[in-house]
Amino acid sequence: MTGGDGAPEGDARRAYLAEHLDAVRSRLADACRAAGRGVDEVILLPVTKFFPASDVAILRDLGCREFGESREQDAAPKVIALRESAGDDVRWHMIGHVQRNKARAVARWAHEVHSVDSLRLVDALQRGVERARGDGERTDDLAVYVQVSLDGDTHRGGVDRAELDPVADAVAQASGLRLAGLMAVPPLESDADAAFADLAGLHQRLLRSYPTATGLSAGMTGDLEEAVRHGSTCVRVGTAILGPRPVTSP
Ligand SMILES: *Cc1c(COP(=O)(O)O)cnc(C)c1O
Repeated sequence: MTGGDGAPEGDARRAYLAEHLDAVRSRLADACRAAGRGVDEVILLPVTKFFPASDVAILRDLGCREFGESREQDAAPKVIALRESAGDDVRWHMIGHVQRNKARAVARWAHEVHSVDSLRLVDALQRGVERARGDGERTDDLAVYVQVSLDGDTHRGGVDRAELDPVADAVAQASGLRLAGLMAVPPLESDADAAFADLAGLHQRLLRSYPTATGLSAGMTGDLEEAVRHGSTCVRVGTAILGPRPVTSP
């Protein structure tokens, strides 16, 4: 037994996570079949924000190797805890808003960032990766998804679609960054199916300029089926696996 704080609560948590992870895996497999897609075309990214490193360790025991986090200051200690208990076989995705002054820290632990939405952030991440490399803390490129705001309400994160090309161009040209694709969260009150259809159109357009930017990060607990139908390659699932978050997420 690893990751628990000992006996009964640890066992109960393990059972909870195993059951819910299984259910989400079946849901995702059903969604892929319904969309005529292969199950291995879509990564399941458990979102562990607000949950302890012990939960990440349990999910790792259950076969997960990629995790999503949304706040630098919460993620960094978990990354260190997992490195100590499990070595380097876990990959971390930053999926939340990155403040520019946190870019350097994020570049030390994140393998992928899904939430890049400004030229200034591209620049800050590039410098963060250069520094992390200089310090011997990473060797790989940082995979970057440009987050797009489908309704232009950029306060909720994402670039306006009019700014998508310049930001994607900047990522593609930055040393140490690799343009992975697009990410979006459907606008509040929107129809997820319509929102992801719109996103898929933007992704097709991006692929004409950048054929290797095949990643489409879309779909959460409430809308993963719609996202898979419209070509998602990575669903970010928190609640359905880990349960209700202990505090309200940003
Ligand atoms: C928290 C979060 C998720 C997970 O949401 P659930 O509805 O709990 O599955 C996915 N994407 C982003 C960007 C998030 O911040």
